[in-house]
Amino acid sequence: MPISLHSVIKTFELQDQFTVHPGCPSCHRIFQPTIPSSSHCPNCDLPLFTSKGTNIFQKLSGRRPPPPPLKFAVPIAPLSSLLADFFAEGEMESSVDEWQQTPHEPGQYTSPMDGTVPCEVKSHNGSLFFDKASLEEENEIRLVVTFSLDWFNVNNSAFASSHSTGVMLFCISNLRPELRYQTKNLLMPIVLPGPSEPMTEQLQNYLKIIVDDLIKLYEEGVRVKTPTCPEGRCQATQWSLA
Ligand SMILES: [Zn+2]
Repeated sequence: MPISLHSVIKTFELQDQFTVHPGCPSCHRIFQPTIPSSSHCPNCDLPLFTSKGTNIFQKLSGRRPPPPPLKFAVPIAPLSSLLADFFAEGEMESSVDEWQQTPHEPGQYTSPMDGTVPCEVKSHNGSLFFDKASLEEENEIRLVVTFSLDWFNVNNSAFASSHSTGVMLFCISNLRPELRYQTKNLLMPIVLPGPSEPMTEQLQNYLKIIVDDLIKLYEEGVRVKTPTCPEGRCQATQWSLA
């Protein structure tokens, strides 16, 4: 049975876009992957890596030993990078474009995009975010994403009787309803490793990464290649909590 994220990905021949960041197992502060393997958490003075001596083979061969395993590994894939793969599929681009052509009647609520917030929210230059006049490029895509966090707990396993793992998810509200909640169309920026749910203050470390990326998407957008625009289309994003 695969017992780590790495072995699950390898066993099922999956590919992911995660970068694994070192985290502090106590305060859940998250660090850059390039941090030296001798580093400690400045808040808690706990080592971030498992100490691992050089084995006899490495001594004889003179090879550099691989980096030691992390004490607390946090897989992260920012939304701004996930959107590149998401829009590589033609159906996603056409579905979002279709929404932009759909007339929205005041007082008729058929989609999250008919709500007050998407209709009144402003872009960073002060104009209505979803008004065509506010687009900075003719073929720019404006997205609404809803964000959620949920947990799953393997109650019946002898290996992890109390382990609880969390997943943060983005849903693209511009998509047609039949596409919006399909598992393959939900974007997962962070996996919270467990073994238990973090306290509110610990959770802020994960949310900071999410919010910083969303602010960047809102203010600057990101350019991604799509089937109709291989030179790239700019994406800007608004968000709400679910
Ligand atoms: Zn710490």
